[in-house]
Amino acid sequence: MAYDIVTCEELSELLSSFICHASGHLPDDVRAKLTELSSIEDEGFAPAIYKVMKQNMELADELKRPSCQDTGIPQFFVRVGTKWPYLDEIEPALIEAVKKATDRAPLRHNAVEVFDEYNTGNNIGHRVPWIDWELVTDSDRLEVYFYMAGGGCSLPGMAKVLMPLEGYDGIAKLVFDQMTSYGVNACPPCLVGIGIAGSAEVAAKLSKKALLRPVGSHNPNPKAAKMEEDIEEGLNKIGLGPGGFGGKMSVMGVNIEQAARHPATLAMGLSTACWAHRRAKISIAPDLTYEFVTHKGVTL
Ligand code: SF4
Repeated sequence: MAYDIVTCEELSELLSSFICHASGHLPDDVRAKLTELSSIEDEGFAPAIYKVMKQNMELADELKRPSCQDTGIPQFFVRVGTKWPYLDEIEPALIEAVKKATDRAPLRHNAVEVFDEYNTGNNIGHRVPWIDWELVTDSDRLEVYFYMAGGGCSLPGMAKVLMPLEGYDGIAKLVFDQMTSYGVNACPPCLVGIGIAGSAEVAAKLSKKALLRPVGSHNPNPKAAKMEEDIEEGLNKIGLGPGGFGGKMSVMGVNIEQAARHPATLAMGLSTACWAHRRAKISIAPDLTYEFVTHKGVTL
């Protein structure tokens, strides 16, 4: 099939608008969950914190500003169809889009070069934006998941390889240790992503991918779904509440993703997202028509 030529400039313009919108507007599922959780809280500071969060979202929309001052390290999780015709344009377009969005949104300058210890001033740095690639066979679409990895919400993150005998209880224990120690830094209610695999880097990556799954979705494996449910129930009892000021509910949910493990290892990874869970997904056709999957009805 023949396509009109799409330039890197055109693709970066679309992606820049996508980033700008995501920085100021939480996805539909997160907004709905925050509304649900706020209706449960009726004691202490919690109702006031939810009121401020709501006001914050309204002002971000009205003033066209990011919904949190920490706009995070830009991360992209790209699923590209093997029949997408502009493979060479994707990476330069993503980098250019971040530069443009840094000026337009505006995004806080968050890329600090390791070892050289200076802020690049435009959110572009060595391996930043972080781009994770996945090929999708028999597809001509480009799916881009964007995630703004804030400082506070990245803080509880960890990965560890356990002896299999420590079992799934060992994984749950580490999640609770981490959430009771650092969860408050992640501006609750958090979405908790857990990866389980045979090695630390796979588990860590899966824990981040788990955060890309919609709030309220469940792992298709019934045992994994039960573990999601049990950990969510337990984390809601630790009393962090919205903003960490105390409350009945501490998390928006728990999402687990897994990969088959080595017989001798049970690796776990943990990633957390804050209440301002700015993740977005766009699915782009070769003629640049698109579906803004996470923000229904929005035209860029
Ligand atoms: S944890 Fe989230 S809401 Fe809190 S400061 Fe960081 S990015 Fe903002």
